[in-house]
This record gives sequence, structure tokens and C-alpha cells, in this order.
Amino acid sequence: MDYKALSELLYPNITTTIEEIEARFPERNLPEGAKVTRFAPSPTGFVHFGSLFPTMVGERLAHQSGGVFYLRIEDTDAKREVEGADIDIINSYASYGIFFDEGISLDGEKGDYGPYRQSKRAEIYQTYAKKLVAEGKAYPCFCTEEELTAIREEQEAIKANPGYYGKWAKYRDCDLETIKEKLDAGMPFVLRFRSEGSIENKIKFTDLIKGAIEITENDIDHVLLKSDGIPTYHFAHAVDDHLMKTTHVVRGEEWLPSLPFHVQLFRALGFKIPKYLHISQLMKMEGGSKKKLSKRDLGAGLSFYVAEGYPAKSVKEYVMTLLNSNFEEWRNANPKADINDFQFSIKKMSASGSLFDFDKLNDVSKNTIAHMSADEVYDEIVKWAKEFDTELYELFTKDAEYAKRILSIGRGTAKPRKDLCVWKDVKPYVGLFYDELYHKEAEYPEAFDKEDIKQALTMFAEGYDKNDDANEWFAKMKVIADKLGFAPETKLYKKNPDDYKGHVGDISMFVRIALTGKTNSPDMYEVMNILGEERSINRIKNAIKEI
Ligand code: GLU
Repeated sequence: MDYKALSELLYPNITTTIEEIEARFPERNLPEGAKVTRFAPSPTGFVHFGSLFPTMVGERLAHQSGGVFYLRIEDTDAKREVEGADIDIINSYASYGIFFDEGISLDGEKGDYGPYRQSKRAEIYQTYAKKLVAEGKAYPCFCTEEELTAIREEQEAIKANPGYYGKWAKYRDCDLETIKEKLDAGMPFVLRFRSEGSIENKIKFTDLIKGAIEITENDIDHVLLKSDGIPTYHFAHAVDDHLMKTTHVVRGEEWLPSLPFHVQLFRALGFKIPKYLHISQLMKMEGGSKKKLSKRDLGAGLSFYVAEGYPAKSVKEYVMTLLNSNFEEWRNANPKADINDFQFSIKKMSASGSLFDFDKLNDVSKNTIAHMSADEVYDEIVKWAKEFDTELYELFTKDAEYAKRILSIGRGTAKPRKDLCVWKDVKPYVGLFYDELYHKEAEYPEAFDKEDIKQALTMFAEGYDKNDDANEWFAKMKVIADKLGFAPETKLYKKNPDDYKGHVGDISMFVRIALTGKTNSPDMYEVMNILGEERSINRIKNAIKEI
């Protein structure tokens, strides 16, 4: 067979040479050891939470090594494409502080290795396809859908392995004359890879996360170019990652079964094989067993976290906790450090799947928010509330100083308070400071005499002096306890509970309920300082009337 003639017959319009293309994509001028990674989503309109994993890994590997992290849009499947999805992707990642050095951006493309949208690279793929045909490594296949179905059914009937391979590959050895006739008759064709692999053989491969693996060789003559000349993922992956000089392909482990084919392709094309990191799928526990976190699960989409009000910082912290086994230890030792100061390491990644766990995420988020400054928390809340809670937005922006004083309570200490997990928690938490939101939620415990409660509150209101410091303030609470037959120290009460009606903690609980409407609130001394004397005392007086 004259393969060269076949290549001309199939792609007469491709006149660009491989050399010309290679010259357009020179080696990158980067320091020794710099890694080039990419995020290569298909614009399907759904940004999966799980995609944060490969993205964060790719970003860290590139930026920690002085390399390049770029965004390539894999839009070769027009049927799945959703308008505006690429903008969504860029914005979603930007809100996680993940930026691309190169590729598709909000103001067009940046970088010298474009186009970065696969649909714009048809000529490039076809040039390599033509070369493969000329070398006898690819061939046209004119099978119709019906013919392919017939092959599949026959394979099923005799229990043969499915797929287009070996003797089932009808057009693998078709002669030039027949091909010419079909082309002249205007029959559409796909371009297939001529696989020399056998399922009797295994390929040995080292994945940087999974370690040494052995997988069965590929014997299928997979499609490289569809009938419209647009490549399949596999072919585009090989061509693009070669030309864009990707050093490390970080992608989901669902691509691992395709690896033998990819290795064949890189070899057939004469490309250096990049390093691969296949990231395990995110799992969840369901009914005692592990399951893939699917698109329909709560928390599967990245937008869920935004709407709930998880700070991007918290989500990233959580993902990093799952990605690197030593991250938490580092974080405990460096509670205030920027996450990017952590030395991310491939070696510390686990080869098995991470388990998604809301409790853990919430824990991490509380800790993350607790270590933010009041200003940062304020800015984040306002940004979130603007979109998701207009009432809170208005209260917070009307008097920023007041909001920041509230948010400062218990912050900046060695053991900061952990009241907030998501921004949705803010309103119930700050409600007591705003008359518009304040309402009584808690009741006084039945165990106490109502008269005692009234008396305690009355004495407290009468003795209140806004100039008292926290110690004086609490000393007065003890005096009240003592006068009403409550133990002024919890210790005393614990020793002889029968000698008292309760203890000083109960007195402060009465005040807390009267003042905040809750049994649980931030430090009351501070609460009163923020509310101011008049509002505090009025609340207590109103509470007395209601008992
Ligand atoms: N477009 C592929 C996907 O969205 C990319 C896989 C890869 O990173 O190579 O799954």
C-alpha cells in the first residue's frame, strides 16, 4: 500500500508540514526542573467539586517549580458543550484563588502555545493525522453506525471482546482503490489508529501517584479523528500536551484505562511521553460502603460551596488536607501561614481514593475562619451576602465598624472562637446585635424559681456600670449569686450541691438569656460593650417583664 498516496487522498488540503508546526511550538524557556501543567476541562457547564483536586495539584506543581500552569478548553464534543461554560470555569477557579498563567482567559487567549481551544486546532491535528497515515499508522474507516452495531452484536453472540480490532477491523487492510471509490462516492470516514498491541501483553508504567503499574496493552483501533475531522480526546491529548510542552499530566483516574492507548499514540507520533499523575476519584460513604461522589450528590458541584458560604480558603484547606497527608500537621504548626507556603509533595499523595466528609470540611472551615482577621471575615461576608442575603448585606454595610466589632469578639487570641463554619451561619450568630434580627430563642430552665431569676436580673441591671472591667463585672455576678443563695464559685457548688440553689454560672445564664435570647453566645461582657448600656439594660428590663 502506498501510504503516502493515501495520506494525500484523505487530506489534500493539509499542506502545512510537521516541521512548520513544531517550529511554532518551540521548547519553553524555563528553569531546570520547572513543571508545565494544565487544566483541560470540557465546557459542559458543570464544575465538579472533584476537579479542584487535579487543578490544585497542577497549580502547585507548576508554581512551586517556577513553571507554567495553563487552561486548555477541550471542546471537541460539540454536543456536550454549554454556552458560556468556559467563563464559568475561569470565574469559579478565580474565586478559589486559582489563576492560569496561560491559555483561555476572560480577555481572550494569553500565551504562545495556542490556540488553547481545541476546536480551533483542527488543522494541527489533521497535520499529525496525515503523517500517521503516510507512515501506515492510521487508516480511514467507512463503517456506518449499522455496521458497527452488527459487529458489536456478533461479538456479543460469540462472547468475543468488544471493539474494533484485529479481524473485526473491517477497513484495517482496505486497498487504495476501494478507499478511492468510497471517497469518490462521498462516503464519510473516521480515521482510526492501527494498533500493533495485543491483549496478551502488558505495558509497565510508572504513575507518579499510583506507582508502578501493569496494564494490558491496547489492541483496539481507536478513532483519532471523527468524520468531521475533529479529534477524539485521546488524539488531541497527545498532540496538545506534546506541543504545549506539558511535563506533567494531572488528571482523573478515569483516564487510567486509556493510558496504554495514549502511550502507543505518543510513541507512534514520536513524542516524548509526559509524566502522569492519575488522581483517585472522590468517594463518599453510603450505607457502609464507598461510592463515587456523583454529579447528583450534595456537594458535587463547586457552586454549592459558594452558595452555602464556604470560604474558598476553607475549601482549599480541606482539599489540601486530603491531597497531602502531612498538610494538617503543617497547618497546626503554622496556623497563620498562607496555604501556598506549604511545600506540596507528590510523594505525600495517597494512591487510594479520598473520602469526602462534610464533618471534616466543616471542622476545617471553622478553624480557617477562626484564624481570619475581622476585616477579612467582614469583606468575605459582605461579598457573599451581596449575592445570597440582602438583609444581612444591608445591615453589615450600613455600619461596617459595628459589624467588625462584632466579628472581632474572640478573634486574634491563641485559641480563637470557632462559631462560624459557613457564611450562612453569620446571621443567626450576629442576630442578637441587631434589633431587626434579635429574637428570644431560649427559655429559662424550669428548675429555677422565677422570682430568683427576676431578682438576679434586677440586681444585675441596677449594679451595671459600663466602666467596669471584665473582672469587676464578673465579681458583681458573684455577689448576686451569694445574695440569692447561689454558690459564688462553681467549685463550692460541686462540693455541696444541696447547700445552694445553683451557682454563679446559672446567674450568668439568666443574664445571657435575657440579653441575647440564647443559651449560647459570645462573651457577654463584650456583647454588652458592643450593644451599649442603654440597649443592654433595656433588653434586661424587658426580659424581667416577660418572666
Ligand atoms: N477534557 C478531559 C476531561 O474533562 C480532560 C482530561 C485531562 O485532563 O486530560 O475529563
